[in-house]
Amino acid sequence: MSNTPLDKNAKLQALLQSYIAQLPEKLAQIQAGWDSLRHNDVDNHHYDEVYRSVHSLAGSAGTFSFLKLSKCAREAEQQLKQWRSHPNDAVLVSTISHSLQQLQVIASQGPDKPPASNEWPAPIAPKEHNDDGLIYILEDDKHLAEEISQQLQHFKYRTVVCNNLKQATEAVYHQRPSAMVVDVHLQEGPPDGPQFVMQSDLIREGTTPIVYMSHHNDWETRLRAVRARGQAYLTKPIDFTALIEHLDQLTGRQHHDPYRILIVEDTELLAEHYASVLRNAGMQARVLTDPSELLNILPEFKPELILMDLYMPNCSGVEAAQVIRHEPSYDNIPIVYLSTENVLDRQLSAMGRGGDDFLQKPINDHHLVAAVSIRAQRFRALSSLMIRDSLTGLLNHITLKQNLDSVLAQAVRNNRTLSFAMLDIDHFKSINDTYGHPIGDKVIKSLARLLTDRLRKSDMIGRYGGEEFAVVLPDTEPNMALNVINQLREDFSHILYSCNATEFNSTFSAGIAGSPPFTDLDNMVRAADEALYSAKHLGRNRVELHKDETKV
Ligand code: GH3
Ligand code: MG
Ligand code: MG
Ligand code: MG
Repeated sequence: MSNTPLDKNAKLQALLQSYIAQLPEKLAQIQAGWDSLRHNDVDNHHYDEVYRSVHSLAGSAGTFSFLKLSKCAREAEQQLKQWRSHPNDAVLVSTISHSLQQLQVIASQGPDKPPASNEWPAPIAPKEHNDDGLIYILEDDKHLAEEISQQLQHFKYRTVVCNNLKQATEAVYHQRPSAMVVDVHLQEGPPDGPQFVMQSDLIREGTTPIVYMSHHNDWETRLRAVRARGQAYLTKPIDFTALIEHLDQLTGRQHHDPYRILIVEDTELLAEHYASVLRNAGMQARVLTDPSELLNILPEFKPELILMDLYMPNCSGVEAAQVIRHEPSYDNIPIVYLSTENVLDRQLSAMGRGGDDFLQKPINDHHLVAAVSIRAQRFRALSSLMIRDSLTGLLNHITLKQNLDSVLAQAVRNNRTLSFAMLDIDHFKSINDTYGHPIGDKVIKSLARLLTDRLRKSDMIGRYGGEEFAVVLPDTEPNMALNVINQLREDFSHILYSCNATEFNSTFSAGIAGSPPFTDLDNMVRAADEALYSAKHLGRNRVELHKDETKV
């Protein structure tokens, strides 16, 4: 998915060239339409066509840097509107004819400013993360370095341990890491950790996130870490959960899918331009030039924001928005109108009917990216509140059950297998009792993260209750699910948690049921629960298939 600035530029340049190429014909059509209008009786259909072409020119020209052309088209649009009620006004007729000629003259002069080549909108949208998860650890305490390395590997990071400055220098020279974890105090120094970072190539490139660790918790040391580009600071003993959380954030792992934006706009070149701008900022954009396709595309693409042109030939943007709103499941997708409309009253009335906001054409690329990503982000956050558990970000109980119900029905219809696993942390109460509730929360979060990292994208993971989790594995035989969950169980049991000066680990037990034989929701859940109960009964830290499963 990587797109170099050059590729991005080429795509937008190609769109601009297509726009320039089709301008003369478009203007000729407007001219011909007007000639026939003014010499014959006013015919509503022809008038609408000419008016709409001029209106859409006013909107598109600005986007393609024909600013004067856009202004002139807007004037012509106003004049045409007046003429509609005064068709015999000779002065007006000649003004319009003149304006339309002007359009051709201005268009032939080309765009007003050469499109900037490297002015790309800042990627504020989450990107599909292509980070390779390579972490360097500079720590002269060999035992600790090894322990950090192992903990990171549980979460799919690749690690390189450097026990001294020479190794670290060589490692950085050979390959840039995704992030570096650096001990502040090194026995062999100076330089110490921060000085090493400042002297190394890392600082010149300025892109590698640095996490410092130290025994010290004083202002001076922390300030030095900040000045040496530290983006996180951990005091020893290291809280591995916190370290992984920082690394996930700094390396972009916490970002999930790009925002999905649907552009409904009848001017195809303009729609493609918006789509390219949004894609360059890391979003996923789909173009629809015919609003009658909307009901087909919504359930499949699941947009998180719809950019809606206001004026389209067969149906207006306001009408399309109302059709969308009549379907309860699309009741709260943000709909943002795009239009040359600059009369506030009309904007407000359009917003009252289905839309949430208004962006005025021509809209500047940076502004478009910002306006769209902020709204999509808010929509995603709000929807996630409804379906996700706040501590872990996993699906909540209700949503997981709903999803299980629908994929189970689908699997039964299509004769496919499906497995369902229920997991429960062992003796969790005693973890809370011994180390406190906040530490208990960390254990829950780390199991959630392990499940998210390891399972397939098509698997559904939910927090079923306090320290209980549920996983739906479509197209997976129960025996296969048993292997997968068993491997997770093994890995989970090696994760270390620290509290004050003590370290401990935790385990879970799990029960698995499959379809076939279980074909309805309640039986499936009950069977997995029974299997979980046996796993607990047989000594915990183990995974059991439901007894009916083992016979199949
Ligand atoms: P078993 O091995 O039989 O599952 O024993 P257990 O101690 O894990 O099971 P039990 O059901 O007795 O205890 C679960 C505990 O989990 C009780 C509850 O206080 C705690 N718990 C539930 N939700 C949360 C949470 O969100 N955070 C924390 N820290 N604890 C929670
Ligand atoms: Mg040290
Ligand atoms: Mg329990
Ligand atoms: Mg438990």
